[in-house]
Amino acid sequence: MPFKADLHCHSNYSDGADSPEELIRLAIEKGLSGLSITDHDTIAAYDTALEAAKKLNFPLLGGVEFSASYRQDPVHILGYAFNLNHEAIHTLCQKHTLRRQKRIEKMLGKLKKLGIEIELKGKEGSYGRPHIALELMNQGIVSSIQEAFERYLGEGRPAYDPGELISVEETLETIHRAQGKAVIAHPHLIKKSSTRRAILKLPFDGIECYYARFPLSQEQQWLEIAKQKNWLITGGSDYHGANKPQSILGSSWVGEETFDLLYSHFQEVNSYPKRSCSDRT
Ligand code: AMP
Ligand code: ZN
Ligand code: FE
Ligand code: FE
Repeated sequence: MPFKADLHCHSNYSDGADSPEELIRLAIEKGLSGLSITDHDTIAAYDTALEAAKKLNFPLLGGVEFSASYRQDPVHILGYAFNLNHEAIHTLCQKHTLRRQKRIEKMLGKLKKLGIEIELKGKEGSYGRPHIALELMNQGIVSSIQEAFERYLGEGRPAYDPGELISVEETLETIHRAQGKAVIAHPHLIKKSSTRRAILKLPFDGIECYYARFPLSQEQQWLEIAKQKNWLITGGSDYHGANKPQSILGSSWVGEETFDLLYSHFQEVNSYPKRSCSDRT
């Protein structure tokens, strides 16, 4: 089995279905050699995930996927290998938790005006649109998550609200202050070409050129840009478990060189014991 590490997936600390330990076990089952759990705007999974990874002797790279905005345009930014205890990361995650709580209330208010009453039961961590979508489905108001986004929750739809906007610049600065690497997530999904051009001028460290099951033709332009800038080329599946069954863990990945670069940096800034060659087979 060639070395494959999936650097983009979500646990049930955000909008994934699986617990951090379940994700690690699934990664092992699938023959992956490394993983990063990149929850939306929270690193709470790492409270239990690091222990689980240690127990299972599996290299887990610290990660997160921040929701940011360039002007009004949404941009997702992956942060890797930062100091998990750094105040800057924790402060930004807390800001997002508040942002998400307020935003969910606004979105539920908009639904109420449309005659739809939804209650989300107290969930720790990072509330997102998929949680509303699931509840709309449970109540039989829509027949699929996709329909919930198309009719109510997608950008520009009647119950959508972006919440407080947190800039790409602030997010980048936070990741860097915490000694992490900042990567443009799924650039293929950024709709405005002006936003794509503008953010490429910012001091990112990498681009997620390999994403989910996008075709090679779509990857090519990003690979060329990353190579030209001498940035990291990363990849991941955006696996969400049963909450988004079309994404399969390991469908996109990085090889040993990229993973080791990030993983050794992660160990260094978190002062973990150094991994010896015999730690991984
Ligand atoms: P949020 O972070 O609350 O804005 O929600 C974003 C998440 O919603 C994404 O990471 C996806 O998991 C999910 N999502 C976004 N658009 C769609 C869609 N059209 N269909 C299904 N899921 C979607
Ligand atoms: Zn998600
Ligand atoms: Fe994303
Ligand atoms: Fe994601």
